[in-house]
Amino acid sequence: MATKYVYFFGAGKADGKGTMKDLLGGKGAGLAEMTNAGVPVPPGYTITTDVCRYYYANKEKLPKELEGQQKAALEKLQKTIQKSFGDPSNPLLVSVRSGAKFSMPGMMDTILNLGINDVVVEGLTQLTGNPRFAWDAYRRFIAMYGNVVGGIEKNEFEHILEAQKHQRGVKLDTELNVNDLQEIVIDFKKLYAAKIGEDFPQDPLKQLAGARDAVFKSWNNPRANYYRKQNKISDALGTAVNVQSMVFGNMGDDSGTGVGFTRNPSTGEKVFYGEYLTNAQGEDVVAGIRTPKPIAELAKDMPVVYKQLREITSKLEKHYRDIQDFEFTIEKGVLFMLQTRTGKRTAASAVRIAVEMVKEKLITKEEALMRVEPEQLDQLLHKVIDPKAQLKVIAKGLPASPGAATGQAVFDADTAAERGGNGEKVILIRQETNPDDIHGMDAAQGILTARGGMTSHAAVVARGMGKSCVAGCEEIRVSESAKQFSINGTTVKENEWITLDGSTGRVILGKAPLIEPEISGEFGVFMGWADQIRQLKVRSNSDIPRDAIVAREFGAEGIGLCRTEHMFFAEERLPFMQQMIVAQDVEARKQALAKLLPFQKEDFKGLFREMKGYGVTIRTIDPPLHEFLPKTREDAEVLSKKIGVSTDKIMHAAEELHEFNPMLGHRGCRLGITYPEITEMQVKAIISAACELAKEKIKVVPEIMIPLVGNVTEFRDQKDIAVRVAEETMKEYGVKIQYQIGTMIEVPRGALTADEIAAEAEFFSFGTNDLTQMTLGFSRDDAGKFIKAYLDKKIFKDDPFQTLDQVGVGQLMQMAVLKGRKVRKDMKMGICGEHGGDPASVKFCHRIGLSYVSCSPYRVPIARLAAAQAVIEGKSKKGSAYSSK
Ligand code: ADP
Ligand code: MG
Ligand code: MG
Repeated sequence: MATKYVYFFGAGKADGKGTMKDLLGGKGAGLAEMTNAGVPVPPGYTITTDVCRYYYANKEKLPKELEGQQKAALEKLQKTIQKSFGDPSNPLLVSVRSGAKFSMPGMMDTILNLGINDVVVEGLTQLTGNPRFAWDAYRRFIAMYGNVVGGIEKNEFEHILEAQKHQRGVKLDTELNVNDLQEIVIDFKKLYAAKIGEDFPQDPLKQLAGARDAVFKSWNNPRANYYRKQNKISDALGTAVNVQSMVFGNMGDDSGTGVGFTRNPSTGEKVFYGEYLTNAQGEDVVAGIRTPKPIAELAKDMPVVYKQLREITSKLEKHYRDIQDFEFTIEKGVLFMLQTRTGKRTAASAVRIAVEMVKEKLITKEEALMRVEPEQLDQLLHKVIDPKAQLKVIAKGLPASPGAATGQAVFDADTAAERGGNGEKVILIRQETNPDDIHGMDAAQGILTARGGMTSHAAVVARGMGKSCVAGCEEIRVSESAKQFSINGTTVKENEWITLDGSTGRVILGKAPLIEPEISGEFGVFMGWADQIRQLKVRSNSDIPRDAIVAREFGAEGIGLCRTEHMFFAEERLPFMQQMIVAQDVEARKQALAKLLPFQKEDFKGLFREMKGYGVTIRTIDPPLHEFLPKTREDAEVLSKKIGVSTDKIMHAAEELHEFNPMLGHRGCRLGITYPEITEMQVKAIISAACELAKEKIKVVPEIMIPLVGNVTEFRDQKDIAVRVAEETMKEYGVKIQYQIGTMIEVPRGALTADEIAAEAEFFSFGTNDLTQMTLGFSRDDAGKFIKAYLDKKIFKDDPFQTLDQVGVGQLMQMAVLKGRKVRKDMKMGICGEHGGDPASVKFCHRIGLSYVSCSPYRVPIARLAAAQAVIEGKSKKGSAYSSK
C-alpha cells in the first residue's frame, strides 16, 4: 500500500489523532485531536514529517505520490467548506503552518491568507463588503510570502508600511485606509519583483507549492537549527506542514485573535490567562505591534465567546491532563481554535502545576515528577533582589520571566553574545526581540524589551531559558543605534549597570544586591516526593563551609568532593604553601606544612560541623604545584620578601616545576608519593579535626580520597601513610573514630584494574572530568578550541565534559563498578565529576548502580529530581504500573 502522506481534518472528523505527534507534528496532532473532540477548528490537512525526511534524504525532492494525495485533500477541503481555491466569487484562503513534533515557537514562519491574488482580492471585497479587510489580508500575505518563500527581510516590508503610516500621520496599522493598503500592496509587489526577479505569483497552486517547500526548507534554517541544538531536539525528526482554511480575526471589531494558557505559565496559579486583540490577525498579538488586552476583558467585549472559550480550554486541559497553551480567532463573533499544545512554563509554575494537579487527582505523583525537567529547576535556584536593599527603580514593565539579574547594558545581540561568552555580566536591551537575537539572549543575564506582551518572543524565549526578563516596558525609549535608552530624562548608556526583576517587572538603575533562593512551599513538597522515590544519594562538591551550608539547604547528603588545594589559595595561606613548594629539603618543607596544618584542620572542622554525621570525602592534594607559584618576576619579588627565600630561588623553582603537559604531569597521588609529608600533614589535619569534634560529641565520617590512582601500588603507598598517621593521631587524642580510605577512579588504568584496587580501597569516586579527558585524549582546558566545531559538525551530539560519554567513558565506569563490587560487595561508589549534576548523566549513574552522585551545591536539587526520574523511567521500561498517559 502506498504511504499515506496527507492527513485530513475537518467536519468533526480527522484522519489522524493526538498521539501521532511523530508523524503529524505537535500542531497537526493537536488539530486532529481537537477536530475529533468536536472543538471548532477550521478544516485542513497535514502533510507528514515523512515527507520532510524524504525531502532531505533525496536532495530536496518530494515523493511522487504526494501530489495526488495533496490534490485529493485540497478537493476534499474545498467541498467541506464550500469554497474554492482561486475562485474570486467564493475564494478559499489557507494558512500554511509548520509544525514539528516539539513546538519550536517562532522558529519557522507561518504564511497566512494564501490564495489571494489581484483578482481574488476584488472578489473578497465584493463578498465581504469590506475592502479594507481584503486589502489588509493581501498586503499581509505578500509580506509573509515574500519573507518566508522569497527570503526578503521582514524589515523591508516594514519600512514600506512605516513610510505609509508616516505619510498619513497615523500610528497604528488599523488606522490605514483602503487606499493606503492598496498603495502598500503595489509597493510590496514592486519590492518582491525587484528582489526575486519575477512577479509575485498569482496562481494559488503555485503559491501553495512554494509555501509548502519553504516550510520544509525552514526546518534547516539557522534559527531552527540553533533552537534544536539548544533544546537537544534531533535534526532527524523533520517538520510537518499544515494547510488550513483561514478564519479571519481582522474583519472588524467583532473579530479578533488571541493566545492564552489554562493556568498562569509564569506562577502556575490556576487562573485563565492570556491576551487578545480585536480586529487583528495571526501574529499581531505576539509580535508586539500593538499591546494586547488581557483576556479577562474578552468577558466584557464578547461574553458568549468568552464562555465558550473557557469551556473548550478547560475541556482540553482535562483531556490532555496538562496546562494548555492555545490560539484562537474570532471571526464575526464566531470562535475557532487554531492550536493547542502543552504549555511551556517557568520552573516555578511547572512545580506548582505538577503539585496542584496531583491534589486535583488529575495526575499521579510519579507523573508529577516526570513533568518537570530537572534542568529547569535551575530557575528556582535563581537569585532574587535583597528585599532590604535601597533600589532606584526607574521603570516598570511586564514580569515576563522570573528571577533577578544584574549586568551592564548592551543593545545588540552580537555584543551580548560576545561579552556574555567572555564571562561578563550583561543585560540585553532591545526594542523587541526576534529569533535572530537568541544567541545574545542566551549569553545575557537578563533581557529587557520596550515592546511586546507576556507572550512576546522575548518573554517566551526567556522563560524557556530560565532567564530574567522584563518585557513591554513601554515607558523606556530604546535607541539601538545610539546604544542607550531613556526614561523621564534619565539616560542609560551602554555599559551602565542595571538590574532587572523578572518577577515584578522592575527595572533598577545600578547593581542591586541579589540573594539566594530557598526550597519551600510547593517546591519543598515536590522535592519531598523525589526523595521518597530516588535510590541514589546526592552529595555536593564543596570546599568550604559556606558552600556546605548552601548544599545542606538544597538537600545534600554529605560531601562527595572537597578539593583541599582550594583552601591553599586563600591570601593568608598561600605564602606558606609557596614556602613549602620552594623548600630545598624535607625539614624546610615540613616546617611550612606545619604552618598550613591548623588552617586545614579548622576548614575540615567547619565542613564536618555543617555535614552533621554525613560522609565527607576529602581529596588529598591534586593539582600540579606550579599552579601555586608566582608567574612573573615582580610577583616573585613580593613573595621573596614575605617568605625570606631569594627571588632567584623562587623563579628557579617555578622553572623546575614547568611541565609540558601538566594535566598528565606531576600531580594527584604522584605528589603524595614524591612528597609523603604533604599526605601526612593532610591526613593529620583531617583526623585531628574529626577527633576534636568527636570530643564535642559531633559525629563525623571522614573519607580520605587519593586522587589519580591508576595502579594499586600507588594506592597502597598512600594508604600506608594515611593509616599510619591516622592511627598515631587518634592515639594522640585518645579518641577512636571511624574513617575510610578510598580512591578516585579517573585514570583509565584505574578503571581497568578496579578489582585490584578494590581489594585495598574502601570506596570509589569516579572523577569523570579527568576520566573523560584521559579516555578521549582531550585536554579539558584546550578542548574549547575544537569542541564547538565538533558540535556544529555533529561529530559529537553533546559536549562530553558536560554530559557523560556513556558509550565510552561510561563503559569504563560500568566495568569498574562490576569489577570493584566483585571484590568488595556493596562497595560505596559515587561520582564527583561535573557530570554528577547533569540529569542525563545522573540517570546513567543510577542505571549502573552507583551509590551516590556529587555535584555543585546549586545543582543538588536537579540531581535529586533526575535520580527520582531515573527510578520512574526504569519502572516504566520494565512495564510496571507506571504509565505515562
Ligand atoms: P507558530 O507555530 O509560530 O505558533 P502558527 O502556525 O500557529 O505559528 O501560526 C501563526 C499565527 O497564525 C497564529 O497566531 C495562528 O493562530 C495564526 N493562524 C494560523 N493558521 C490560521 C488560520 N487558518 N486562520 C487564522 N489564523 C491562523
Ligand atoms: Mg502557533
Ligand atoms: Mg581529577
